[in-house]
Amino acid sequence: MNLEFEPKNCWQIFNDPEHLSQMEQLAKEYVDFLSVCKTERETVNFVRSQALKYGFKEDFASSKVFKIHRGKTILLARKGKKPLANGVRLLGAHADSPRLDLKQHPLYEECQVALAKTHYYGGIRKYQWLSRPLALHGVVVKADGTKIDIVLGEDPADPVFTIADLLPHLAHKQVTKKVTEAFEAEKLNVILGHSPARKEEKMESCEDKKMGEDCKDNPCASTEDAKHKNKEKNLIKQKVLKLLHDKFGLVEEDLFSAELMAVPAGPARFVGLDKALIGGYGQDDRVCVFTGLKAFLAQEEPEYTQVLIFWDKEEIGSDGSTGAKSLFLEYCLEDMIDAWEPETKLRTVFQNTKAISADVHAAMDPDYQEVHEKLNASLLGHGPVFCKFTGHKGKYGANDAHAEYVAWLRNILNKAGIPWQMAELGKVDIGGGGTVAKFLAIYGLDIIDFGPGVLAMHSPFEITSKADIYATYLAYKEFFQAE
Ligand code: MN
Ligand code: MN
Repeated sequence: MNLEFEPKNCWQIFNDPEHLSQMEQLAKEYVDFLSVCKTERETVNFVRSQALKYGFKEDFASSKVFKIHRGKTILLARKGKKPLANGVRLLGAHADSPRLDLKQHPLYEECQVALAKTHYYGGIRKYQWLSRPLALHGVVVKADGTKIDIVLGEDPADPVFTIADLLPHLAHKQVTKKVTEAFEAEKLNVILGHSPARKEEKMESCEDKKMGEDCKDNPCASTEDAKHKNKEKNLIKQKVLKLLHDKFGLVEEDLFSAELMAVPAGPARFVGLDKALIGGYGQDDRVCVFTGLKAFLAQEEPEYTQVLIFWDKEEIGSDGSTGAKSLFLEYCLEDMIDAWEPETKLRTVFQNTKAISADVHAAMDPDYQEVHEKLNASLLGHGPVFCKFTGHKGKYGANDAHAEYVAWLRNILNKAGIPWQMAELGKVDIGGGGTVAKFLAIYGLDIIDFGPGVLAMHSPFEITSKADIYATYLAYKEFFQAE
C-alpha cells in the first residue's frame, strides 16, 4: 500500500487503443464545437439542437426537458428513478467568454478607415487582441422584432477584421509604461473598411425623398446639418453601412438593439507535433459545456434526477437575468416539482442536491511557474482539477467545499479509475478568481469547482490537453450516475 498520494498522468492511464480512439474522437468533435460556438447564444443554440436530437422537450411534463431563457442560458433535466426530494445531480458551466463587445454607437471613420468602437467584456489582457484576425458574431434586432444572426469572418471566403497595433518604431514611449497604462480600452477599435462610398452608393437621405415618403430605413444622422455634412464626409463609414444594409438590411439605428462582438477569427486547432493539445478561443468555459453535455447525453434512466445548466455572464460577475445570480435555476426546479412531485418542497430538493461547478482551472504555466505554488498547482494531462475554494487572499469570497463532499467525489472517481487533481489557483498573495459555485452554495447544496486545466486562460488562444478533456468527460459521467 502506497501511503503517499501520487498524481496520475492520463496519458499513461488511457494508453490502450480503445481509450485512445475514444479520446481522439471526442477531441475532434470538441474542435468542431469550439470552432462554431463562440458566443453564449451560439452555444445555447448548439445545446438546444443536441437536446432535441436526444428527445428532450421544452415541456416540464416530459421526463426529458429543456428550458432556455433569453437565448443565453439553458437548463436540461432528465427525471430519475428516485424522488426529487432526494435531490438532483446538478452540473453547471458557463457559455460566455471574454471578448470585445461593440459599443452601441460603434461606427466612425478616421484616417481613411472605418472603425467600430468596443467595450471589452470580462478579464482580457488588451494587447492580446491587437494585430490579429477578428470575426464579428452576434445578433441585431430590428425595430419590428426581426432578429438577424451575424457571423462574419469565419468562412474562409469572408473578410476578417482587426485592431492595428502600434509599430515598434514609434512605441519607444509606450514600452516604458506599465502594462496597465500602455494599452487603453478606447484604442481597441476594430477596422471594418477602407474604401469610400461612390456617389451612387451613398445612402439616400431624407432630403432626397419627396415629402410623405417612408424614410424609416434611412441611416442618416439626426440633425439636418449633420445630414448634409455626413453625405459629403464619412464616405468610408457610409460604405460600411451600405454593405451592412445590402447584406443584412441594417440601418445604423439597428445597432442600438444589437449584441455584436469581436472574437478571434478562425477554427480551433490541434497543437504540437503529437497533436496532443487543443488550442482555441473560449475554452473557458466551453470545454466544460462540451464535456458536461456529452456526459449528460450519455446517460439513460438514472437513479437521481440529472440537471445540466449553462449560464451566461459568468465572466462579468454572474449578474443579469441570464447569469448564475438570477432565479432561472430556481424557477426551473419549481416547474419540475410542480410537474413531477408537487408535494415536495424546493428547499428539500436543493438541500439534498450534489453539484459541480464545472469550470476550468489554471494549469501550471511552464514560463510562469513562479506564480503557482507547486505543491498545490495542477498539471496539464493529469486529469480534471478540484478547486476546493476559489476567492482571493485569505479565501475572501470563496465557496469552500465541505470535506465530506470532497471525500464522496474522490471515492467515485477512484473507483472508476479516473485521474483527478486537487489544486488552488496560484500563490496566495498573487491574485485569485471566482466562479458560480458561491452563487449556488446559498441554496445549501453541496458544490465544488471541478474542471480541466487551461494554459493561457482568457487569451484568444487557450490551450487544453486532449487527455484532460477525455478524463473530464468520464469524470462528469461518473458524477451524474453516482449513487
Ligand atoms: Mn470560467
Ligand atoms: Mn473565466
